[in-house]
Amino acid sequence: MRRWLLSSACGTEFLLAEKMAETIYDATIIGGGPAGYMAAIRAAEYGLKVALIEKNNALGGTCLHVGCIPTKALLFNAEIWDHMKHAAEFGIEGIGSPTLNWAAVLERKNSIIAKHAKGLDFLMKKHKIARIEGFGRLTGPARDGIHAVEVTAASGEVSQVKAKNVILATGSEAKMLPDLKAGDRILTNIEILAMEQVPKSLIVIGAGAVGMEFASLFRTFGAEITIVEFLPRVVPVEDEEISKEITRLFKKRGIDVNTGARVEMVERTETGVKVTFIDASGNPQIKEAEKALVAVGRAGRTGDLGLEQMRIVLDRGLIQVNKAQETAEPGVFAIGDIVAGLPQLAHVGAMSGMIAAAKIAGRPFRPVRRDRIPGCTYTEPQIGSVGLTETQAKETGHEVKVGKFPFAGNSKATILGAHDGFVKVVADARYGEILGVHILGPQATELIAEAVAVLELEGTVEEMLFTIHAHPTLAESLLDAYGAVEGMAINA
Ligand SMILES: Cc1cc2nc3c(=O)[nH]c(=O)nc-3n(C[C@H](O)[C@H](O)[C@H](O)COP(=O)(O)OP(=O)(O)OC[C@H]3O[C@@H](n4cnc5c(N)ncnc54)[C@H](O)[C@@H]3O)c2cc1C
Repeated sequence: MRRWLLSSACGTEFLLAEKMAETIYDATIIGGGPAGYMAAIRAAEYGLKVALIEKNNALGGTCLHVGCIPTKALLFNAEIWDHMKHAAEFGIEGIGSPTLNWAAVLERKNSIIAKHAKGLDFLMKKHKIARIEGFGRLTGPARDGIHAVEVTAASGEVSQVKAKNVILATGSEAKMLPDLKAGDRILTNIEILAMEQVPKSLIVIGAGAVGMEFASLFRTFGAEITIVEFLPRVVPVEDEEISKEITRLFKKRGIDVNTGARVEMVERTETGVKVTFIDASGNPQIKEAEKALVAVGRAGRTGDLGLEQMRIVLDRGLIQVNKAQETAEPGVFAIGDIVAGLPQLAHVGAMSGMIAAAKIAGRPFRPVRRDRIPGCTYTEPQIGSVGLTETQAKETGHEVKVGKFPFAGNSKATILGAHDGFVKVVADARYGEILGVHILGPQATELIAEAVAVLELEGTVEEMLFTIHAHPTLAESLLDAYGAVEGMAINA
């Protein structure tokens, strides 16, 4: 008799393939990253019968295995390392010269991943979600309202899962430069997270959040870093002032930052890599290093999903959806990194999954609003932002008022010894509505949560001026920045 392993990671739940084929799920999700597993859990919470198809033997996707979680784990190691180096400033002596046990650093990172992957297995069981291991592919439009998803297991065995609704959540993978292949010296986010040693030198191609975080991390651990970015500024989605200041701070840390630079060639040399680019003045430049990281964006995994037989509309490899995350094919939704027009972030994927689940369950939901999505870059110092940049606010017709407050004036920042950066508030001059908040500085990725709530509730400068912020906190710098909009910061 044919048996189908459903929850292999838990090692407990088996289901007959025949039984699986008989079951008609309310929602079947293809892809168990943050978008997919959160959609699955929320759909189950609504009382729907849910199946989750994942090709890997562990849930969590890019985010858990080779993205958000491992990078932030390593960045926390870097933060501790930085504190150790400055321990004497805090009156802590006798540490000597600390050394880095990179193998132990990686082991800690891997144990965090394993713990959370196990946690996801538990949540699947708790919510009675049928976990199906294998590669999912649509077989065509629904027949009598029922979709059939073909699942190919690692063994090659093929089966079918039937569902009233299918949610595509297959995520993304690193884009490569033309004619390049990732390996031991030319790296993507996957290879760089498994390096056996900290490289002596690293060229980072692409200065979005991913490139900037790896640059910051390995600089702290002593690598010589060169950044090569095609656009005129680093972190190009951020407010211009943030890009300018973090460039200055990175240069102060000894990072070689090249913007407006067009990469012509990436070659392996006997000992490492050589990157040739045309700099912002039009001159050819050659940089050599032990390794090069290519962080030039991510391509949606939409290639082998059987979409060609459907009405689904693609936009440069990403799927177009409406406000409920529905594609043009009835009963087929798309969420997370494969969706066109939304930033590729775990929290956007998660929310888009929860929206799709609500729509399928017939429950109320609010669509994702692009101008309410926090963006976080966990560099040293960190960046946290939400809403319109100053330029975007002007371009969308607002008469703009800006308030800026430096962390140099914040007492908690002094206590932490972290004075770099500022909070910038962009407000509408007529009504005082806060349109955007841009933070560069200590704990910026945590502080931004207040600003997200303020924008979500359409808060004004006046309201925030009379909102009590605890003392002494970094959050008081927000209060001062709201005040600065009206020329009334207290501490600067
Ligand atoms: C280095 C790095 C750092 C990052 N840091 C952050 C951060 O700090 N914060 C943040 O918000 N975002 C961060 N991101 C982005 C974040 O990882 C992604 O936005 C997020 O993982 C997208 O979630 P997803 O579920 O759409 O896709 P994924 O996480 O890519 O998951 C998709 C899943 O689908 C599976 N799959 C694919 N095709 C099939 C198929 N046909 N059948 C079955 N299974 C399939 C894959 O195996 C995978 O498990 C980072 C990304 C990188 C690369």
